[in-house]
Amino acid sequence: MAQLARRLPQNVSGDFYVDESCIDCDACRQIAPETFRDHGGQSSVYQQPATPDRELRALMALVACPTASIGTVTKHDVSPAVRAFPSLIADHVYFCGFTAESSFGASSYLIERSASEGGNVLVDCPRFTSPLVRRIAEAGGISGIFLSHRDDIADHSKYAAEFHAPRIMHENDGAERLGIERVVTGEAPFEIDRDLLVIPTPGHTRGHMVLLYKNKFLFTGDHLAWDPDTHELVAFRDACWHSWPEQTRSMEHLLDYRFE
Ligand code: SF4
Repeated sequence: MAQLARRLPQNVSGDFYVDESCIDCDACRQIAPETFRDHGGQSSVYQQPATPDRELRALMALVACPTASIGTVTKHDVSPAVRAFPSLIADHVYFCGFTAESSFGASSYLIERSASEGGNVLVDCPRFTSPLVRRIAEAGGISGIFLSHRDDIADHSKYAAEFHAPRIMHENDGAERLGIERVVTGEAPFEIDRDLLVIPTPGHTRGHMVLLYKNKFLFTGDHLAWDPDTHELVAFRDACWHSWPEQTRSMEHLLDYRFE
C-alpha cells in the first residue's frame, strides 16, 4: 500500500500520488498516460485526473501497479477499476492488468476465443488475484498459456493449476525446470492452433519467443516494443540479457510476417 509519508516530491499536489517504492515498470504510464509520467527513473503524477474517465484510468493504474506504489489522499471506491480488467484492447484481445513485481510489471494478455476456436489463451502471466481469476473464469477460463520468456511468467503455475491449462515455453529459458507442459526446441516457427503462430526470437533471452495472432497482433514479450513518442518499433539494447546480434537476427526474421 502506498504511503503518503513516502510521496515522491516530483508529484504535483493533489489527490493521486506515487511513492518512493516505484520500480519504474511503466505500467501506470501505459494505462493512464494523461496522469502519470516518467520523471527519470521513476513515475509520478504530473496532472491530477480531472474527469471521471481519467479518474477511472488512474485507479486502474493504481490496482495494476505491481508494487502498490500509487496512492490517493482521499478514499476511493476501486471496485470499478478492479472490474475493468481484463480490459479490451481490440477485437477479442484484452490487457490483464494486475502486473506482478516478480515480472517487473510486465504486461499480460488474454485472447478470447470460442471453444470451437480452441478456447482462450493467456499470453504471459499476471499476478494471481481473485477478482481477475474470477473474471477469466467467467470469460470461459484458459485453454493454454503462452510464455514468451523467463522474465514475464509471474504466477504461471497458479494459473496453470487453476484452469488446467498447459503452458508453452522454450527449453532455452528453463521450461523443463519450471515444469512446463509443452517445451519448445529449436528456432522454427510453428502453429499451436489456427491463427496462432509461435516464432522463436532468441536475443533478449536465449529462449525468447513471440506469438502472432491472426496476422494482426504480435505479442512481443521483451523482444520488440512500440515507442509512443517516436511512433516506431524499438528494442532495448541495454536490457538485452543474452545476445544483441542474435536479437537483431531475430528481428530480421519478423520481416517475413505481417502484423499491426
Ligand atoms: S505502475 Fe507502479 S511501479 Fe510501475 S511505474 Fe507506475 S508507480 Fe511505478
